[in-house]
Amino acid sequence: MSIREDDHLHLSFHGDLKDLLHRRYRQDAVLHYRLSRSASIKDILEAVGIPHTEIGSIYKGALQLAFNYLPLPGDRLQIYGVTAGPAAAEPSALRPRAPTDFRFLVDINIARLAGLLRMAGFDTVSVQDLPKSYSKRDIVRESSTSGRILLSRDRELLKHREVAFGRLVRTQDPAAQLIEIVDFYDLRSRLAPFSRCLKCNGLLAPVSKETVVHRLEPLTKRYYHSFRQCGSCSSIYWRGSHHERMLQLLKPILTADNY
Ligand SMILES: [Zn+2]
Repeated sequence: MSIREDDHLHLSFHGDLKDLLHRRYRQDAVLHYRLSRSASIKDILEAVGIPHTEIGSIYKGALQLAFNYLPLPGDRLQIYGVTAGPAAAEPSALRPRAPTDFRFLVDINIARLAGLLRMAGFDTVSVQDLPKSYSKRDIVRESSTSGRILLSRDRELLKHREVAFGRLVRTQDPAAQLIEIVDFYDLRSRLAPFSRCLKCNGLLAPVSKETVVHRLEPLTKRYYHSFRQCGSCSSIYWRGSHHERMLQLLKPILTADNY
């Protein structure tokens, strides 16, 4: 089939973006998209399957474009994914406003990742913690007003315009998801294991045994002497068997400094 240049937009995808395209678009080296209405490049990229959160830069020749660019017939655009590493959350032509820190809002479809991120010490809110009545739009608004990076496996959620920083989580296993996110944002040096409450995201602080002894089970009382307490919900933590299990999960990403 010959493509008439004058009513098509020609898109080349780089990195792993091709994997995110709808199946019917994956085979060709260049995607020839028929321009039928005046749609922004953001809308077109999302129509072919890629949430805007996954796009790192869009080039027309040497010119970097913004999401609101209205493609012209015959345009040839190069589309790049977000580069892994600290730059993944830095301001760019597509995202002038950067998140202030690596704080996360984790979607309900990957809820176990929220617990693992807390275990690793990251300030993490789970969509499970938000009011049950929240719509997708409310969730998006929460991530945007709180400045949290929205993590999800739901492409439609990430397509909302208000999501400034988000990431489509690629892996399915929660332990693999933790490694994926820590490596994507280059967070290994920021790990602070067991500094945060798994239940409420509050910060843990050392507490004397005498202070909490009345709340301990007999065996815990007998075998453990070092305790931490959540400053928000008062939950007590100690280095029991659950601690060992969590340590095993964190092992692949712990460095000598934060072990
Ligand atoms: Zn707590």
